[in-house]
Amino acid sequence: AEEATALRKSYKGNISGEDIPFPIGSFEDLITRFNLDKRLLSNLIDNHFTEPTPIQCESLPITLYDRDLLACAPTGSGKTLSFLIPLVQQVINQKEKEGLKGLIISPTKELANQIYMECIKLTNRIFLGKKKPLQIGLLSRSLSAKFKNRVINDKKYDIIITTPLRLIDLLNAEALDLNNLRHLIFDEADKLFDKTFVEQSDSILSLISAKNLKLRKSMYSATIPSHIEDIAKSLMLDPVRVIIGHKES
Ligand code: ADP
Ligand code: MG
Repeated sequence: AEEATALRKSYKGNISGEDIPFPIGSFEDLITRFNLDKRLLSNLIDNHFTEPTPIQCESLPITLYDRDLLACAPTGSGKTLSFLIPLVQQVINQKEKEGLKGLIISPTKELANQIYMECIKLTNRIFLGKKKPLQIGLLSRSLSAKFKNRVINDKKYDIIITTPLRLIDLLNAEALDLNNLRHLIFDEADKLFDKTFVEQSDSILSLISAKNLKLRKSMYSATIPSHIEDIAKSLMLDPVRVIIGHKES
């Protein structure tokens, strides 16, 4: 507990919510505490991710305990791996289930592509079954068309990264099997819930919640305007809020 307090002080972490887990001090802590897949750890090291950043120290345990999360940390502070590392581990934990398990929503194609590239590095040589590599889909126009034309199986991907409109289109076409979906991530949540995008994000939420899934939700952004906090409270169950650095609004 003292270590946690010192660690939080060192990076000006402000964490609120019920039953907040202790942060990690190193990626190796994830092996003892959460039985992190060894391959996942070696992929981190191979990519020179040796020490977790503050937002990673806090958000990895919260997410691995399957808690809802609202995370705010400055641009460039490693928010992408904050959601990818636990998601990949949770997908590995769910490996007996077929099809889509995690959905990442990003406001722009460029960002979606960056997340995809980082996820490819992280999942290198990770298999869910004998000959079944963990499959990640970037929902491009052509991939979306393949789903809709049933050229590819609606259970092919374990994780899909998408912009809002592509996803809405696919959900409306009922071209994606959502039965095993458990993790919903909004990256750049301040943008996804601003005037331009809020209707799209609301449609996604209503299309998905119509399926009555037990979903873990998380939002990541560089700022937390007050309306995002209200949205988080209404969408999430006992969320933990993590703010690294100063709160902006
Ligand atoms: P954010 O989304 O918070 O703006 P990113 O997730 O895009 O930040 O990360 C910024 C950069 O930091 C990326 O190049 C990423 O690969 C790198 N990075 C992330 N986590 C670590 C880490 N633990 N150690 C070293 N570099 C990291
Ligand atoms: Mg980012």
